[in-house]
Amino acid sequence: MTLTDAAHALQARHAWEPPRALSAADPELADLLSAEAERRASGLQLLAGENLATEAVLAALAGPLVDKYAEGYPGRRHHTGCAVADATELLAISRARALFAAEHANVQPRSGTSAMLAAFAALLRPGDSVLAMSLEHGGHLSCGSRANFSGRWFDVIGYGVREQDGLIDLDQVRELAKAHRPKAIIAGSISYPRRLDWAAFREIADEVDAYLVASAAQITGLVAAGAVPSPVPYADVVVAATHKLLRGPRGGLLLCTGELADRVDRAVFPFTQGGAAMNEVAAKAVAFAQATTPEFGAYIARAVEGARALATALARTGARPLTGGTDTHLVTADVSALGVTGAQAERRCAAAGLMLGKCAVPFDAAPAAETSGIRLGTGAAAALGLGPAELAEVGALIGALLSGGAPAAAAARVRELLQAAGAKGSR
Ligand SMILES: *Cc1c(COP(=O)(O)O)cnc(C)c1O
Repeated sequence: MTLTDAAHALQARHAWEPPRALSAADPELADLLSAEAERRASGLQLLAGENLATEAVLAALAGPLVDKYAEGYPGRRHHTGCAVADATELLAISRARALFAAEHANVQPRSGTSAMLAAFAALLRPGDSVLAMSLEHGGHLSCGSRANFSGRWFDVIGYGVREQDGLIDLDQVRELAKAHRPKAIIAGSISYPRRLDWAAFREIADEVDAYLVASAAQITGLVAAGAVPSPVPYADVVVAATHKLLRGPRGGLLLCTGELADRVDRAVFPFTQGGAAMNEVAAKAVAFAQATTPEFGAYIARAVEGARALATALARTGARPLTGGTDTHLVTADVSALGVTGAQAERRCAAAGLMLGKCAVPFDAAPAAETSGIRLGTGAAAALGLGPAELAEVGALIGALLSGGAPAAAAARVRELLQAAGAKGSR
């Protein structure tokens, strides 16, 4: 099995047309999807968490398991007719365990947030204290937002990064852990572009007898390819996602020790979910297999090298990449020196077909709706075959746009880059 050729995938998406069954039954919705296909093909996707699912993954999603009800786990279902569902889930589990060298995998969570909810349910009781990266410094909302179960039902204490270099302050993590004695420490972020020191987090967790949970949804594909250190040998539970760098279906994944397997499984079903989406489980199995191929390794290397080139190019324009660069597919940059807010930067780039996100930077003085920064990810670009040379150019284009350059010229160049990506892969 190989990854679908980048250009083929791109062309298939450019040419997407609603199947007749859909356009006949529901022309209104078919039109909406056609508009989305056009939007998707008209720009370069640089949002950190979005990617392009592979054609094989899309095929599995649309396959016959879409109809199957299979509450429970293989061999222990609440429904009849589950032999194929069982075999499919066992295949997904064994592939996930092998890919991540994990003792146990649960492939049923519907999203990263559902997986985190189950991790909390497996290890904690409401009211327990948890130490996690603060939202202002890059923590996900499932790691302590007051608007989310985590911040509402748990006592979440936040750690952050150092102002001088933007790196996680492990001394602060240790001090807070000793002061608050949390039941669990969560390591991981939606925007931190550097490798995490899992061993150091494990050491701190052990010092205060806390569980260590890795919030690794953003970097799941990097871990699969060995491009960043894996949290699996260190964390009690790893919360992962299959739709980001992994190019699988929208969904979550839990990895844990054998000792916690039963608790984690019961926390997913029946505690926080009903029947799993078996077509998503099938598509996850496909993504896990594709992640072992040399093509996947090359794509991940392209994403990381592309991000590095993008950060360097942005720095040349006067934007300030946080932490000075990146070890991952993520680039977070303060753009205030260019005289724009994050929200203005997002709008200007969108007008030129460059889809990136505004992002609060640590110690941000701008209002939350504006922010001082932007966050970019190179996963979708790398999936289209774009590498460091193209992403360096994208960085320069962004700098020009933020310094007042006209969107029309940049938009024309973005279209050329996308067309070249198509031509390159069709050889
Ligand atoms: C993307 C992400 C999530 C949430 O994933 P959803 O599937 O949108 O719920 C959680 N944590 C981190 C670190 C993420 O990057």
